[in-house]
Amino acid sequence: MIRHSSWLKTFTRSLAAASFAASLFLAWQAIAHAGGATLSPEQDPLVKNMDSSVSPGADFFKYACGKWLAANPIPSSERGWGIANLVNEETYRQRLGICQEAARAKAAKGTSEQKVGDFWASGMDSVSIDQQGIEPLKSYLAQISNVHTRTDLLALVAKLQAQGFGPVYGFFVAQDEKNSSRYVVHLYQGGLHMPDRDYYFGQDEDTKRVRGEYQKHLTAVFKLLGDDSTHANLSSAAVMKLETAFAERSRTLEQRRDPWANYHKMSLAELAKLTPTIDWKNQFTGMGIPVQDTVVVGQPEFFRQVDSCLSVARLSEWQSYLRLSVATTLARNLSKPVDMENFHFYGTVLSGTKTQRPRWKRMLDATEDAIGELVGQVWVQKYCSPATKARYEKLTNDIIDVYRQRIQSLPWMSEATKTRALAKLAKVERKVAYPDHWRDYSALQIDRISYAANQVRVNEWWFRHEAAKLGKPIDRTLWDMTPQTYNAYYDGSKVEIVLPAAAFMLPGIPDSLVDDAILYSYAGGSTIGHEITHGFDDEGRQFDENGNLNPWWTDADSAQFATRAKKLADQFDGYVIGEKHVRGKATLGENIADLGGVVLGYEAFKRTDQWKRGEKINGLTPDQRYFLGYALSWLGQRRPQALQQQIMTDFHAPAFLRVNGPLANIPEFYAAFGIKPGDAMYRGDDVRVVIW
Ligand SMILES: [Zn+2]
Repeated sequence: MIRHSSWLKTFTRSLAAASFAASLFLAWQAIAHAGGATLSPEQDPLVKNMDSSVSPGADFFKYACGKWLAANPIPSSERGWGIANLVNEETYRQRLGICQEAARAKAAKGTSEQKVGDFWASGMDSVSIDQQGIEPLKSYLAQISNVHTRTDLLALVAKLQAQGFGPVYGFFVAQDEKNSSRYVVHLYQGGLHMPDRDYYFGQDEDTKRVRGEYQKHLTAVFKLLGDDSTHANLSSAAVMKLETAFAERSRTLEQRRDPWANYHKMSLAELAKLTPTIDWKNQFTGMGIPVQDTVVVGQPEFFRQVDSCLSVARLSEWQSYLRLSVATTLARNLSKPVDMENFHFYGTVLSGTKTQRPRWKRMLDATEDAIGELVGQVWVQKYCSPATKARYEKLTNDIIDVYRQRIQSLPWMSEATKTRALAKLAKVERKVAYPDHWRDYSALQIDRISYAANQVRVNEWWFRHEAAKLGKPIDRTLWDMTPQTYNAYYDGSKVEIVLPAAAFMLPGIPDSLVDDAILYSYAGGSTIGHEITHGFDDEGRQFDENGNLNPWWTDADSAQFATRAKKLADQFDGYVIGEKHVRGKATLGENIADLGGVVLGYEAFKRTDQWKRGEKINGLTPDQRYFLGYALSWLGQRRPQALQQQIMTDFHAPAFLRVNGPLANIPEFYAAFGIKPGDAMYRGDDVRVVIW
């Protein structure tokens, strides 16, 4: 199952990374330098990170971050290393304390503390995990070998969906894109165990390498499940054949970004026509959810293909596929050989990571995914005060106010569209720092006996939690990220921005010394400004103020927007990494949000005393500090394999382009660093992009 309807949400950061000093949130108000104290050059990240041997006009990212990059190679356990890791190192330390304390407390059964403590402890108990071997898979493998008919097969697919194994197709419950007041079942393309359909067909060397390794990985998994070499090879070939068939009728990253093209509301009768082999009433009953009268199908051709595979492929091939699905879903909860084979493919082959993260970090990651809000409630009490939240809220409101004024004075937009845009902006719900209400995990059972069994119960709990939304009013209290997450998102159906507290953390600097230039770029621009722009990017703008897909722009304004957006897509299409071009259309929404974010943050910064006074800090003007602060938001580097994977799978461009790309469109940036014609960073007036 896709736990969250993530395709409707646009995130600030790609899910990168996952170091140090006391908990340091940015200072939010009139900053201490007004009273005389400023960052010393030794403390100032903008000075410390800079490689002044590089010209800012040649490669601003390298100029801003080069010294840090040279001094901070990627650890062997990471696919990349940067600012997100620095924040995560800090929250790892905090979460470790919370989990260890919970484990020591041996709290009463059913309490949140007991669940956190036991989940953590069961995951840390590698002796028991190794003793159990693949035992936790046995009941699933037995059910798979008991499949004798297509009816059996489909009944098991439904059951495995409800247990969180997500085989064959994507299933999630989310708001109807055209009637946001109602939850509806979404059926989406899925079923693949490589990260994107393009891996099954790409002809560049890196993709061919990954595909070859995948075939070997599949064989290795089947041997671990007990197959002899002959059977393991047959099973591996069967999985490759089925998944390639799914991939043939799966849409690309670019195609999945068109919300109209991925919306096909169907009655059960229409669905039955699309997939005559699948009895959807039985699927829903098998999942334990009410039979639905209508569903939203994302990609009808994908389901037609699944249906055809059900008729064509042999049952034994489907059984191989299901065995792979259960083994992959639980691999990280199983004994070392299975876990390591899984890591070999998903960590080493796909992202170049050489060693696993230490177990304690992996278990914190797993606890976060499973019951992150239970950890989050304690984390907020310890590390995030209501006063901090109030300060974040104020900054959020300030950035949105700037956006409002910019829309009002936008030269290319008509009054009619402006009125609607302003109405939508006013309606954007602002969720900042941490939730006011928390999820209720009381039905979830956790013990210390088996890590894998805990994981299965967690997966089932999440399925039921999501499915329980059907038929109920929209729950506007939910957050789909925990407060301790270094990320943020915009939700197009709920019309809300969600900005977790950790998104604002800046490790290593006493918060009383952070100046407004860093505050308005790092927090205001790259996080708040970015998210609010998503409501009006090429995808977000198609939803109205109530979160419904509904054209509200005049044709002329749409054409104006499209012309501007196309220039940005063309700009990013022009960047090449290895053999691959960055995908301008796939990353367009994020690039529009980055460009909007940096502009909105700058405009808000211009209202501060620091900007108005114009004094230098550590030799840097306010404008220079603002743009260097923006680069600090994307400080980091990735392994070549991870960069290739990012281009294949991620709606976000690589970090260095999220700096150089948007800044190359901003005249104030040119002025701050003397960028001139002939510089690599220079773009002529005719190609420079102005949207917001
Ligand atoms: Zn984003």
